[in-house]
Amino acid sequence: MLKVVKFGGSSLADANQFRKVAEIIKSDPNRRYVVASAPGKRDTHDVKVTDMLLQCFRLVRDKKSIDETFDKITERYNGIIRDLGIDFSLDEDLQGIKVAIMHHASKDYIASRGEYLNSMVLAAYLEYDFIDAEEGIYFKENGTLDTEKTNEELTAILANHEHAVIPGFYGVMPNGTIKTFSRGGSDITGSIVARAIKADIYENWTDVSGMLMADPRCIENPQPIPDLTYREL
Ligand code: ASP
Repeated sequence: MLKVVKFGGSSLADANQFRKVAEIIKSDPNRRYVVASAPGKRDTHDVKVTDMLLQCFRLVRDKKSIDETFDKITERYNGIIRDLGIDFSLDEDLQGIKVAIMHHASKDYIASRGEYLNSMVLAAYLEYDFIDAEEGIYFKENGTLDTEKTNEELTAILANHEHAVIPGFYGVMPNGTIKTFSRGGSDITGSIVARAIKADIYENWTDVSGMLMADPRCIENPQPIPDLTYREL
């Protein structure tokens, strides 16, 4: 039995969430490949790291300073690392990314760094290997996913890793530049990884237990549905 698991942004928004995620992963030895999103909102007033990165892109375009926004991004990651108490640093990566953003890196490259950095932290915490999505997820010249090349390459790469964390949301164009899927695209990465490794199950985790009767962002305190068939869903 082999499982690929994907955790979204709110499931990886802070150190406590990381701990929960690690507990879930480690509770089942079949959960060997993990796809991670960028840190999401910790509460309703919070801002997703992906949105802060895109804000940096716009600031550079408008010839404004990214210092304040980039400091917030840095603090999100450093806060997680500090609270997890791991001996790990993203300083060099963060520095390189900041310079790249200031030198007009592409919008997709900038947006993808949230997943890239978060997956490195998660890999360090779990003591799993880190596999960069740009090594194994390929787009075609026309911007659509090169499904067969991706499947072949990724299968070969994953075969060399017993356990790995792979960042969601992006891959690489034929010319070597980074391309992202549409927003929320880490789900797609999870399914690509599950196919490549011929997983028995692809688990797409969320941090709400059970299925609620309404969207809790719109309706206060909706009741959970105790049982639900796939058809009803
Ligand atoms: N971080 C990206 C987003 O906010 C992708 C994802 O979470 O799946 O859309």
